[in-house]
Amino acid sequence: MKVRILGKDGPKVTELNRRKAIRECCLNCSGWEPSEVRDCAFTDCHLYPYRMGTGKQNAKARNKAIRKYCLWCCCGQRKEVQLCPSKSCPLHVYRLGAVDRSSEWPESSKKAHIEPDFETETNSKTDWTFEPQSGLYMNQK
Ligand code: SF4
Ligand code: SF4
Repeated sequence: MKVRILGKDGPKVTELNRRKAIRECCLNCSGWEPSEVRDCAFTDCHLYPYRMGTGKQNAKARNKAIRKYCLWCCCGQRKEVQLCPSKSCPLHVYRLGAVDRSSEWPESSKKAHIEPDFETETNSKTDWTFEPQSGLYMNQK
């Protein structure tokens, strides 16, 4: 499914599945440095076995790992995972186990009346920063 997530150069629309979502999450966590993901020292992180996005993966265990990671992210509060506003997080659509299609692209953009134009000079990608509290991108200009 297509979703809009935060990439190295700002928001991007991309085709996502759970394998790729974990990889994107790990890249985000490591400042988009693939070598940092590879050499990640947090072996107890729930996503650790899946961080490289390659190789044979147990799909059920991977789904559970995403759930556990989201619970960890929300200090063990299931309700907070459910209410997570960070739609640009690569794990967002998979945080509940079942796929949450509410943030699927372009469905989400159909609901919004105005979409930021990241391509124009005045709205260049570098002007936007992600605010984790609100789950929104804020223009710094
Ligand atoms: S395994 Fe966990 S700590 Fe390591 S890069 Fe991925 S999300 Fe970050
Ligand atoms: S989807 Fe939400 S709860 Fe899960 S890791 Fe991302 S920000 Fe945290």
